[in-house]
Amino acid sequence: MAEPLVRIRGLDVKFNGLPALRGIDLDIGKGEAVGLVGESGCGKSVTWLAALGLLPKKAAVSGSVTLDGAELLGAAPAVLDDVRGGRVAMIFQDPATALNPVQTVGRQVCEALTLHRGMDDAAARAETRRLFEMVGIPNPAQRIDVYPHEMSGGQNQRVMIAMALAGQPELLVADEPTTALDATIQAQILDLLRRLQAETGMALVLISHDLGVVADMCSRVCVMYAGRIVEQAPSEELFARPAHPYTQGLLGALPDMVGPRRRLSAIPGGVPEPWNLPPGCAFAPRCERADGACAVMPPFQALGRDHDAACVHLNEAVAA
Ligand code: SF4
Repeated sequence: MAEPLVRIRGLDVKFNGLPALRGIDLDIGKGEAVGLVGESGCGKSVTWLAALGLLPKKAAVSGSVTLDGAELLGAAPAVLDDVRGGRVAMIFQDPATALNPVQTVGRQVCEALTLHRGMDDAAARAETRRLFEMVGIPNPAQRIDVYPHEMSGGQNQRVMIAMALAGQPELLVADEPTTALDATIQAQILDLLRRLQAETGMALVLISHDLGVVADMCSRVCVMYAGRIVEQAPSEELFARPAHPYTQGLLGALPDMVGPRRRLSAIPGGVPEPWNLPPGCAFAPRCERADGACAVMPPFQALGRDHDAACVHLNEAVAA
């Protein structure tokens, strides 16, 4: 990969001494769409909250996160204020809680425009109307003056996306952006993100537990488990040849769209809590291939071009 837009190396996060992230290494290229998948509690959101300095003070964060070569971890608040909402924007699962309920939606987008692009009131209102049009909010001239509770969930998510675009970001991190929406609105929001990414050339990180969404939107996928990336590969390769037993389990739980009906397989148990991590491979208590060799932390092994996974029994898992 050419020099990445974002380079994360050895990112560790601990809360009260307990590990939430354990050595995340991740590159995001300019204009690239990368999916981060895994069950709740695997560290997908924490990775980006840590990278952008958005975790509470009690979080101990170490490692390195660079944006175009400039270090973000430990950067001055003024530097981070420029990056957040400017060069890197983030949208969240529930727009209703992310928006300020006592300010009109237009005012909230205008504030972002004033902050990140130095626009005066008139210019910010005009640009907000243009952004509302761009994200498909009908009647932008009228909708600019309504409050979040007067809009649907899908429209509020469009407002959040407009606000994210206000800073002309080079990277948009979308954290479960459609989970709180019904199926038809989900499809519309994903179409919108795809179109905006193509039009603006921004990179996209899509955090999701929905493998189907990620397969459709992203050229590369990283699978996270218990605070680590356990497998990463180009999307087509990952879905055609999943190598890590956890990835295989996630895909085995999806229904086939073609072929005979089959019973879906489930991964037994749940993601271990940070205070209860087993030694070595954290997936061992749920893995049918686990044995004594899994008591050491599995190193990453290359499986092909840009395809790596961390499992001591990778060859057997791949063969299976
Ligand atoms: Fe399973 Fe062992 Fe591989 Fe972990 S290292 S995924 S426990 S086989």
